[in-house]
Amino acid sequence: MKLANVDGRAGLVIDDRFVDVEQGTGGRLPSNPMGVLTRMAELEGLTMPDDAPRVDELTLGPPVPRPSKILAAGGNYQDHLDEEGSTAPGEPNLFAKLPNALCGPTDEIRIPSDRKEVDWEVELVVVIGKRATAVSEADAWDHVVGVTCGQDISDRAEQFRDFEQWTVAKSFDTYAPIGPYMVTTDELATPDSVPLVCYLDGEEMQSGSTANLIYSVSTLISWTSHRCTLEPGDLFFTGTPGGVGFARDPQRFLGPGMLLKSVIPGVGTMENACVAAEPASRAA
Ligand code: ZN
Repeated sequence: MKLANVDGRAGLVIDDRFVDVEQGTGGRLPSNPMGVLTRMAELEGLTMPDDAPRVDELTLGPPVPRPSKILAAGGNYQDHLDEEGSTAPGEPNLFAKLPNALCGPTDEIRIPSDRKEVDWEVELVVVIGKRATAVSEADAWDHVVGVTCGQDISDRAEQFRDFEQWTVAKSFDTYAPIGPYMVTTDELATPDSVPLVCYLDGEEMQSGSTANLIYSVSTLISWTSHRCTLEPGDLFFTGTPGGVGFARDPQRFLGPGMLLKSVIPGVGTMENACVAAEPASRAA
């Protein structure tokens, strides 16, 4: 099943049409996408009315709009570590992105006009569907309701300054586009081998597969759940493959007028235009 955020309301998507979840269930299920994540099984068999509207991806919000937390794995693909000149972390290396950073699959990425080292990172994003406390790796996927595509947009100057500051560097408003849909795990032919691609202005920048994750989805969830309980709706950005901008020679960064496209087959395509926003500097 595919869940969309249509004007803030949960929509079940079939082919290119959707039915409003609250209306389609006669009010049994809520309109809030967050309230539907734990009740996806109740959508089985929901029929699509003949006059069901078409999905307009330009109007979609983030399919999971209000998670209690967003965790992300750093250094989780060898080709990304190689391009950075880093070695693999001996344990999962996590940081947080803050929920204010979320935006929809076609929303603009707003880059403060004085920030010049803003970078892309296409990632598979896992959506928790069942509370996870101290779960085993074998049981980890049972706590996942679905996946979506995400961009872990990163201000490298902020991230790597003296006193490295990853959380803020990756949590500016709009620095976490996700979507276009939350796709349930049963739709994935190979949940541990999901391809993902990123294009900048039509040029391929990244192409990878979660088959190459150093710490798999199961390991990330199990490891984390022994430290932090994961709640339904929490998001896990699983890491990015090689091809990011700051590791290129010459370096490449995002700027106003550029179009960032992110693709996970079966989940969909995000197209986020970059625009200039108010400067971030205290002096500005
Ligand atoms: Zn990342």
